Amino acid sequence: MPLVNAKEMLTKAKAGKYAVGQFNINNLEWTKAILLTAQENNSPVILGVSEGAGKYMCGYKTIVGMVNGMLEELNITVPVALHLDHGSYDGAKACIEAGFSSVMFDGSHYSIEENVEKTKELVGICEKLGLSLEAEVGSIGGEEDGVVGAGECADPDECKMIADLGITMLAAGIGNIHGKYPENWAGLSFETLDAIQQKTGDMPLVLHGGTGIPADMIQRAISLGVSKINVNTECQLSFAEATRKYIEDGKDLAGKGFDPRKLLAPGFEAIKATVKEKMELFGSIDKA
Ligand SMILES: [Zn+2]
Repeated sequence: MPLVNAKEMLTKAKAGKYAVGQFNINNLEWTKAILLTAQENNSPVILGVSEGAGKYMCGYKTIVGMVNGMLEELNITVPVALHLDHGSYDGAKACIEAGFSSVMFDGSHYSIEENVEKTKELVGICEKLGLSLEAEVGSIGGEEDGVVGAGECADPDECKMIADLGITMLAAGIGNIHGKYPENWAGLSFETLDAIQQKTGDMPLVLHGGTGIPADMIQRAISLGVSKINVNTECQLSFAEATRKYIEDGKDLAGKGFDPRKLLAPGFEAIKATVKEKMELFGSIDKA
């Protein structure tokens, strides 16, 4: 099945009280592991690409070629969206041109007026081309590609202003943070999330920084309207751990253990296990 935008899968998720995982990709192994896990579990999935990862993988056109090739060669039949994560205005336009099916424009660092203006322009472009668009209000804490946010809570009225522009999904800060959570993290603000959902109605809400949020908080967030959850760091940690173990066990030194197809296999399997675990937690299994 060719790439789809994220609208239908997220509308269904919001109505069915589950969430679709966005798993960020870094290379071929990541992409293949996530696509196969989605197919094996009959789950819709969103492949996330940050601008930094886009550069690393030799540009958006390379990524579109790789993903489209895999959809065909691996006979993927579950809905898959290819989505730009935390895009700049120019980055979003470049991904639209390259063949992504979904983009995020993160205007949270602009004034609300400028965020509205730029988001509105992109709504027009995405509508015309049948793409889904994610917008953001209130910066999300931690660091992503050098952008540091403080983990603030979004203003529900500003959320409504952006949601009313005709976007597909809305990311709003509710105390969540990218990367590993610090020991003294205050947790998610369900009060803020509840207020945002009341103002934005059917709009699917997006929870960024899904790594390390306790399962009960994830489930409560889903019950309050979160329909898309972004996972990035957790796959990186499990890949690194499995790869480290392979080398520490000296397996790269035995026989042809240095062959990249062998060296990267444990990390590949570790990503698959993490993705499956998240799909179970989010409730997206058998929802394709
Ligand atoms: Zn994010």
